[in-house]
Amino acid sequence: MTAPPITTVKTVVDAIEHGGPGIKVFTLVDPDRWELPPFKPGAHIDLHLPGELVRTYSLCNDPGDGTRYVIAVKREAGGRGGSMALHDKIVTGDVIGVSLPRGGFDADENIRRYVFVAGGIGVTPYLSIAAYLSRIGHPDFTVHAVARDRMPLECLLAPLIEQERIVLHRTSKTGRPDIGALLGQAASGTAAGCCGPEGMILDFERATADWPGDRVHVERFVAPRLAVDLESNGLFVLARGNGLPRLIFPGFRDIRGYQAMYRDFLRSIRDGQAPEMSLERAIEDQRLMEQI
Ligand SMILES: Cc1cc2nc3c(=O)[nH]c(=O)nc-3n(C[C@H](O)[C@H](O)[C@H](O)COP(=O)(O)OP(=O)(O)OC[C@H]3O[C@@H](n4cnc5c(N)ncnc54)[C@H](O)[C@@H]3O)c2cc1C
Repeated sequence: MTAPPITTVKTVVDAIEHGGPGIKVFTLVDPDRWELPPFKPGAHIDLHLPGELVRTYSLCNDPGDGTRYVIAVKREAGGRGGSMALHDKIVTGDVIGVSLPRGGFDADENIRRYVFVAGGIGVTPYLSIAAYLSRIGHPDFTVHAVARDRMPLECLLAPLIEQERIVLHRTSKTGRPDIGALLGQAASGTAAGCCGPEGMILDFERATADWPGDRVHVERFVAPRLAVDLESNGLFVLARGNGLPRLIFPGFRDIRGYQAMYRDFLRSIRDGQAPEMSLERAIEDQRLMEQI
């Protein structure tokens, strides 16, 4: 008999600290203070939150510290509730299931210089990377942290500031930095990373378009906005995009629609009841088709 796969690791919230305006720093530990599963610099974990929400957070502490997972969470008032649940409901002592850590980078001895560009809360993956590079004595790495005014997570940035490993850019005073100038030339032995708002990531991608792909890494906290607009009211999806012909196809906005329909269908057979996918909805979809 094979053991069931581990889906989550049980952790307990050991501390919650203020990380600047709208940001909380959570320290998660094993309930019995055992070591937690190891992680690579720049890795992230999924938190299983109340209400069946699963949200991903970058680990901010040194991977050499095997007893804690430290994450920093920005409260997104306009979001679907994951960060608000953490900010408003979770207290010290609560138990949270987390996934095994994923992602992160493997040290490469051929990299002589690292340069990272982070916007706002996007600095989190570079905190564990910087702690790691500092511990192994890497001679040349810089984190450019960009914020409008007050830098988030000043408490966690303090060791980097002390080591002069971080350059702070306050855009309210200096305007937006030129990302190409921060990165410099794509010299061999240089690797670069970026995490921040979509506009910053696009500038970074433009600036590194000629760099070897394995020397450039982008971390996105939200999926990029789709180039096409999708509109669906159930059975059909209408896709419009700049310069693209409009396209209509049967289906759903995303795979969850198919899954819901499949479950609806199976439930209807099992319970001998009509599926929730109603005739009215199908007629409405037909009307949508005829408008095109
Ligand atoms: C690898 C990774 C690491 C992350 N690390 C951190 C971290 O260290 N700290 C942190 O605070 N967050 C981090 N996040 C983001 C985090 O997982 C949550 O998305 C965030 O906390 C908001 O969750 P929410 O449920 O409150 O809001 P969500 O509903 O997830 O929305 C968040 C924001 O994104 C917008 N949005 C949602 N979907 C889209 C879309 N498809 N296109 C454009 N905009 C969209 C919403 O309008 C809202 O403003 C990370 C995400 C990933 C994938």
